[in-house]
Amino acid sequence: MISVLHVGDCLCLFWLKVESFQKYNDVVEVRNTPIKVFAVFDEAEGFLGLVSSSDAALFPNRIFADLLVRRAPTAIRADAYLDQALAQFRDDRCDFLPVEDVAGKFIGVISELSLFATLTEQERQSREAREGLILRLKEELEYRKMATLVFEATSEGILITDDTPKIIHVNQAFTQTTGYTLEEAVGQNPNMLQSGQQGQAFYEVMWRTLRESGSWEGEIWNRRKSGEIYPEWLHINCVRDETGKISHYVGVFSDIGPNKEIQQQLQQMAYYDPLTSLPNRRLFMDRLEQTLAQSFRLNGGFSLLFVDLNRFKNVNDAYGHGLGDALLKVVADRIREVVRESDTVARLGGDEFTIIVNDCRSMIGASSVAEKIRQMVNEPMVLDGHELNVSAAIGISFYPDDGLTIKDIIRNADTAMFHAKESGDGICFYQSGMNQDMAERLEIEGSIRRGLEEGEFWLAWQPQINLSNGSFSGAEVLARWRHNGVEIPPEKFIPIAESSGLIDELGDWIFRTAVRESLAFKKSCAHCPLSVAINFSPLQMKGEEALSQVIEVLRQNDFPPELLEIEITESVIMSKRTGAMEFLHRVADVGIAVAVDDFGTGYSNLANLKQFHVDKLKIDQSFVRDLENNQISRQIVQAVISMAHNMELKVLAEGVETDGQLALLREMGCDYGQGFLLSRPVPIDQLKVLCAGCREATNLASKR
Ligand code: C2E
Ligand code: CA
Ligand code: CA
Repeated sequence: MISVLHVGDCLCLFWLKVESFQKYNDVVEVRNTPIKVFAVFDEAEGFLGLVSSSDAALFPNRIFADLLVRRAPTAIRADAYLDQALAQFRDDRCDFLPVEDVAGKFIGVISELSLFATLTEQERQSREAREGLILRLKEELEYRKMATLVFEATSEGILITDDTPKIIHVNQAFTQTTGYTLEEAVGQNPNMLQSGQQGQAFYEVMWRTLRESGSWEGEIWNRRKSGEIYPEWLHINCVRDETGKISHYVGVFSDIGPNKEIQQQLQQMAYYDPLTSLPNRRLFMDRLEQTLAQSFRLNGGFSLLFVDLNRFKNVNDAYGHGLGDALLKVVADRIREVVRESDTVARLGGDEFTIIVNDCRSMIGASSVAEKIRQMVNEPMVLDGHELNVSAAIGISFYPDDGLTIKDIIRNADTAMFHAKESGDGICFYQSGMNQDMAERLEIEGSIRRGLEEGEFWLAWQPQINLSNGSFSGAEVLARWRHNGVEIPPEKFIPIAESSGLIDELGDWIFRTAVRESLAFKKSCAHCPLSVAINFSPLQMKGEEALSQVIEVLRQNDFPPELLEIEITESVIMSKRTGAMEFLHRVADVGIAVAVDDFGTGYSNLANLKQFHVDKLKIDQSFVRDLENNQISRQIVQAVISMAHNMELKVLAEGVETDGQLALLREMGCDYGQGFLLSRPVPIDQLKVLCAGCREATNLASKR
């Protein structure tokens, strides 16, 4: 019988400790040993999570911190049993688990493969032990002195028959496994144990092999006295007398039931995703390799689709993982329904699905499959009483047009998917050059993170002027990033911060810094009730929670909410994103003002704004720019101002650059102005200078 294995016995050999800021390329080039998984640690030696090398190799320039899976698997204890590990592989849906000792310290990694390898190794060892045992038994039988000690002490079941074959002796392990005592067994034919699982032919082959070669070994299903059947690994040897005639048979066996079950489960888990029962990454790679080889042979082609759900994380966050899982199952079923039997749908993990569409190398063919998938996935679904709407972003690449290796095909489909997400188009075909953009984005992402830590960001303040009297009414805060001596414009880094999730951190920094700087400003410029306008990305406005955080910062700093204005874009209002809506509805209660930025560029109308609490419209620069020489712009601006005033909204004109524009805006009754003519965005210290002058002359603005 095989001794019981624990997780700690099955540690994976091929893992490597890395720091969160290292990249795949930093670590692989210097090593020759194969690495299957990276264990990521922070600077304080705290364990952060695992990244498989196949994931890391896809994005060799991304830092490990960015590659960590969203739902990090919890560590398993070294003294846990293997079935616990299996259950956790299934629950956490991962290929690797971190292992910790009793004190909770990280000691290594296990994978399905390392379990499998350990079980196999254990089998090999017990087989060697069986062979040794048989050798000794044979010697003992030949000299007719049964060494009962060896015989009884072993944990393998042993039976010895004469040549007829009748059982003449069994040991205690035999009795333990089969349930038959020595007395019951002796005199019987070993076929008393037959379960009927193997046919006559099986036994014929077994006996023939035994007689011809002197031994037989294999898996056999037997029946215990209780009637239960079980698999055992049986090793039989013939013992011959001096004349060469068979005198005895010796059988040694071990019950392989427990291991066998684990191995079968491992096999299933090794190739299928337990949640959706779709092929997993490993099987997907196998199939892709096969498809590619076949296409190469037949001079054919295929397309690869990468499907990723938009905002799936929000579902998980809002309704919990249970519902998130249910949603993934529905999506998997829907995708399966669309494609042909011969195509492979796989789940790579998280909310990422892939489809290998065989024999499809035309854009028309691929886009019709993609369109069907998009429509199916976008259908609303009701789960647990909630109506959920998800949408899919789909990227498509072709073999051989977009790459000749599976690595290239995958990377390009992934890149196309990323673009589909970005552009909001839903479906995107790979085009050359996309990877270049992607690499640049990843580079910037890492730099933003470091920039935040290293103080590369600062705030510029752009004054806003009351047009009726030229006084200073407030200032808009604009984020600035000085990186390696170069000023990187917010248009470049804000979208990347948004798509990578860094906007939370960056937005928080901007907000806290703006509050702090404006308080310091107030101390030196007490007469000026500076109202602070801060741009909020829609992604920052995640419901009540985000708002409470804002309120908390104001409270901590004793900052009056009336002096804060949040600038949102029209698109936020149009999208009706739930989190942002909650945020906006509650903002009014607290006394914080809301301005709609870039007004006129989106498609919102004034009636739409009524549903929300809004205080101010900021007319987009493009209208102001054309004011002097474009009749239509003038009419639009005039209309916006009158309608806004009817609704008791204030109006601010952005991008005021000339005296002519300023005069026209005043004439039209615009309330506020902002632009290079009045002042460029400046560091807060310079704002003090501007403001000091603002009382004396109510400065340049009123004179103009
Ligand atoms: P925005 O909110 O519309 O900001 C106004 C932009 O117009 C600023 O560009 C400002 O420097 C520029 N500007 C001001 N007066 C004039 C003018 O007279 N003529 C012209 N041509 N431009 C003028 P900036 O600072 O490059 O910011 C660009 C955009 O980046 C902002 O547009 C905003 O959407 C975003 N952004 C900037 N800072 C932040 C921030 O802290 N958070 C978020 N979420 N977005 C920000
Ligand atoms: Ca703005
Ligand atoms: Ca604007």
